[in-house]
Amino acid sequence: MIKRIGTCSKDCYGSCVFIGEWDDQAQERKFLNAKPVKKHPFTNGFFCEKLVKRESLIYHPERLKHALIRAGPKGSNNFDRIPLDEAIKIIANRVNKTIANFGSKSILGAYNSGNNGLLSRFAPFRFFGKIGATITSGGICNEGGCVGLNQLFGTYSTTNPLQLINPKTNIIVNWGSDVANRNVHTHYLIKRAIKNGIKLISIDSRKTQNFKDSDLSFIIAPGRDHLFAQLILKQILEEQASDKDFLINHTSNWEHILKELGKINTKKILDQLNLEINEFQDLINIIIENKDHTIFNIGYGIQKDFFGGRIVQTIALIQILLGNLGKSGTGIIYSQSDFNIPLINPLIDFITQKNTYEPLKNIKLISLGRELSTNDYKMLFIYNFNPVSSLPNQNQLKRSFLRKDLFTVVQEIFLTETTKYADIVIPSKFDLESDDLFSPYYIPGISINQAGPCPYENCLTNYEFFQGLALNLGWQNLAILKENDLEIVQKCLNLLPNIARNNVKIHGYHLLFKNEDVPYEKLQFPTVDGRIHLKKISFNFGAKLLNKRNNRESHEFLLITPSFKYFLHSQLGQLNSQFLMVFEKIYLNPLDIEKLKLKIGRKVKVSNDLGKADYTLESLDSINQGVALIYSGSPMGINKNHNPNIFISDKPEELGYSGAYNSAIINVEKI
Ligand code: SF4
Repeated sequence: MIKRIGTCSKDCYGSCVFIGEWDDQAQERKFLNAKPVKKHPFTNGFFCEKLVKRESLIYHPERLKHALIRAGPKGSNNFDRIPLDEAIKIIANRVNKTIANFGSKSILGAYNSGNNGLLSRFAPFRFFGKIGATITSGGICNEGGCVGLNQLFGTYSTTNPLQLINPKTNIIVNWGSDVANRNVHTHYLIKRAIKNGIKLISIDSRKTQNFKDSDLSFIIAPGRDHLFAQLILKQILEEQASDKDFLINHTSNWEHILKELGKINTKKILDQLNLEINEFQDLINIIIENKDHTIFNIGYGIQKDFFGGRIVQTIALIQILLGNLGKSGTGIIYSQSDFNIPLINPLIDFITQKNTYEPLKNIKLISLGRELSTNDYKMLFIYNFNPVSSLPNQNQLKRSFLRKDLFTVVQEIFLTETTKYADIVIPSKFDLESDDLFSPYYIPGISINQAGPCPYENCLTNYEFFQGLALNLGWQNLAILKENDLEIVQKCLNLLPNIARNNVKIHGYHLLFKNEDVPYEKLQFPTVDGRIHLKKISFNFGAKLLNKRNNRESHEFLLITPSFKYFLHSQLGQLNSQFLMVFEKIYLNPLDIEKLKLKIGRKVKVSNDLGKADYTLESLDSINQGVALIYSGSPMGINKNHNPNIFISDKPEELGYSGAYNSAIINVEKI
């Protein structure tokens, strides 16, 4: 038995580090099991429920083991098997023809974080750089909030999440984050903190599992979190509890904020939130009493709104007004990936070899459907990404993918919604079979994955595929495509500071913070003058949208599209197929069901101006009246189109180009 260090490659808060046990001599099931590392301060010796059986996934009977070529019309997973070298030869010919006829920028590489490894995401850039292709940039998830925070602090990462269990923390405000199901290691830290006496305040658009551990909880309708935050801000001000010294010494334009807050009409907001002032007075008291001992954990769902960045800004302002930053037991936890930049940027520069080619043209990932509809692109490479599940405005996207003059190559592990539109599918190696490095976005640092043997000779890492393509294009002597994945990882390790390199080599991971560390303790933020910039904050946004949301008919609902706890976006359907039926359902509050005289268990027609589909109606009393829930990320296995992204506009969030996935209004009608 051989032991190797692994890191879960999923686009997930955990980035769990584990010891994998392998039998390299076995015929097929070489990987035996994974044991999560106990002494890792975040992994803490356990995996999430959705991925405890990774060995079943890697050797699943439906795993792709051969290259496939289209045998039927696009829109179906109708393929013939083809030898890998023949598939790569066809793709190479197509690359040559496309460049000759339309120019190299008409070749587009689209990727996301389906495998979050640095090599998995960035090593194919060596190929794209060499041909001068177009690539996608950005993601679809948390960019709005990142830009919002960046405007304030010059960075979106200001806090060490291990501060959740700091003895000085008295209050955790968990805002819009279903940690019990989506971020299980933070849930564990919060549970530990509760045992040590902290109070938990939960704010969400639905009653999540964390509500039952909470001392105070509030359900706020989608797209109104900023109103709730404004109310808190106004009340802090009225009770003269703001930290004037902090504002004077560490922020700029704070007078402007106080003036703006003065204009807020408390009664109007209370009406819009359907709240009584005494209902949230306890919250104000607790926050004020625990000034300097309150930490915020903000989730991504609240910023999947047309004004998501500004919503996050408004929430962050509560901590700024109270001076709750740069001290033990305080701060704003959102995405911590900005802390990783100094560590990983030299690695990414090396992995991509960006100094060897002109900067590539890029398009925003969220706009892929719209871009593909322009005919500017004739060839598309997709890896680490299942857009025909995860991108908004699915109907438009599929129309774009159906273009006859678009040649699409998809690297995948299983057949998916996206492979239905591929001309050629290349079977990929699993994360466990690929050498790679990972930089987690919740607990910052870096960790390694040591590749075990893949029993299927046709399966390739993303980079190995592009190396094969390069050979077919006659680039045998091109140095940047000669190194293999392991050599790249080893060279990357040499680029790390000594302490990080040693930790990765010995333990498999290096974390940037210990439990007690407080970043920005001197309150010098990476803005031009070190202060927090409040100039761009405005409370006057989204009025038209709010008006539309307020004046809905009784059959119109605000749609929220969270992920279901056993899936990661559209992944893990093969492991958790017993839960696939959740994607066929729409959930409404029982009072709405009664009001509309609908029947639970019957089909209803769901529609808006972007799409329509039938769903089975279910009752859910953890959501408020007027809200509908459809789980996002329906994986393969469902024949009908139940993907809620057919209802979502591809108009991105105004600051940061993340998707406004929780902004749609839908009609629900009897059939
Ligand atoms: S999906 Fe997330 S929590 Fe689950 S094992 Fe992977 S990194 Fe850990």
